[in-house]
Amino acid sequence: MEKEELMKKIESYREDMIKAQADMCALKAISPDSGGEGEFDKAEYVKKLVSFADEIKEYDAKDERAKNGIRPNIVAKMYGKDRSKAIWIMSHLDVVPEGDRSLWNSDPFKAVVKDGKIYGRGVEDNQQAIVSSIFAAKTFKDLGIKPKYDINLLFVSDEEMGSEYGVQFLLKEHGELFKKDDIYMVPDSGSPKGDEIEIAEKTIIWFKFTVEGKQSHASMPDKGINAHRAGADLLLTLDKVLHEKYNARDDLFSPPVSTFEPTKKEANVPNVNTMPGKDIFYFDCRVLPQYDPEDLLKDVRDIVNEIEKKYGVKISVDFPQKGERTPVTDINSEGVKLLKKAIRDVYGVEAKTIGIGGGTVAAYLRAAGCNACVWARIEELAHQPNEYCVIDYMVGDAKVFATLASE
Ligand SMILES: [Zn+2]
Repeated sequence: MEKEELMKKIESYREDMIKAQADMCALKAISPDSGGEGEFDKAEYVKKLVSFADEIKEYDAKDERAKNGIRPNIVAKMYGKDRSKAIWIMSHLDVVPEGDRSLWNSDPFKAVVKDGKIYGRGVEDNQQAIVSSIFAAKTFKDLGIKPKYDINLLFVSDEEMGSEYGVQFLLKEHGELFKKDDIYMVPDSGSPKGDEIEIAEKTIIWFKFTVEGKQSHASMPDKGINAHRAGADLLLTLDKVLHEKYNARDDLFSPPVSTFEPTKKEANVPNVNTMPGKDIFYFDCRVLPQYDPEDLLKDVRDIVNEIEKKYGVKISVDFPQKGERTPVTDINSEGVKLLKKAIRDVYGVEAKTIGIGGGTVAAYLRAAGCNACVWARIEELAHQPNEYCVIDYMVGDAKVFATLASE
């Protein structure tokens, strides 16, 4: 009976939810890294939306480049029957820039509602989550029902540009907030059926190799050292050795193996008859969490030393990105079980747990020992032109969170 009431109440919020989306869309929360003023205005608006909460706490990260010198982070708390535990629902306030405007059919910062969808920058990534989590919590308040545990709505800044002023800041400066037994939901990725719960990530390592030899005329190769040849040997050796040695399979992931791809190649000499003295290329590696990245780094160093000796070149190794190896969320944790059940109740589908190539904000939580689930029902239009949010998914996700919190 209680659940029916909750579901009915959420349905009645549909128009308010659409309005919240449209209002937020106009409050361009673009990172100073991308030339924006940050999340201040949007955070003020979100604070109004959550004014029903039992407690609101603000954790501002200082950033002089942003409006009023801060990158806001907010925790809005609703008290549960059992106050020893909390269900966290984390969403991010920032959005990415609109990109090429000519690819948009409408103004990206003026929401358009059409055919059951809301169009605009940020409506899916990550406002759907902001709205669905807020209205899920509000339902309890409006009906005078207490959720089973506390609900902590967490709104963070800076997710798109690395989370230094967002969840990383919170974990570093206010780590005591995050209890290991709490339940953590991150509705920032998912599938159109709502049947994929992401619980693990591969470790991302990006390598930049700079091979230095000696430039000379190509007709007199003995006068120099061809950095391009040494680089090519290094590339193929890495490709072979890494694939052979780190060849484990884990079907949680798609693809179920570690990946090692040579990607970017910087230009060397402009003309055909010059033997290059410098060669720069990159590798994008995504390693299954069963492997210690330190072992991989050691193997790469050994290969680099070999190639240096073989050709008489000097090779430096840099890391444009080096992720941490993060634990896999326990599939038997309470959060995974509750979420699966709530998805079944609301959407009628059996959700499966999956691992991905790496790179969500949940990794920081997992690294801190928190069992985080990344889940939402979305079509994955993040960062694209004509980004949209399916209104039924936004309302449905609110029902899932309310169900989860009422169990
Ligand atoms: Zn996002």
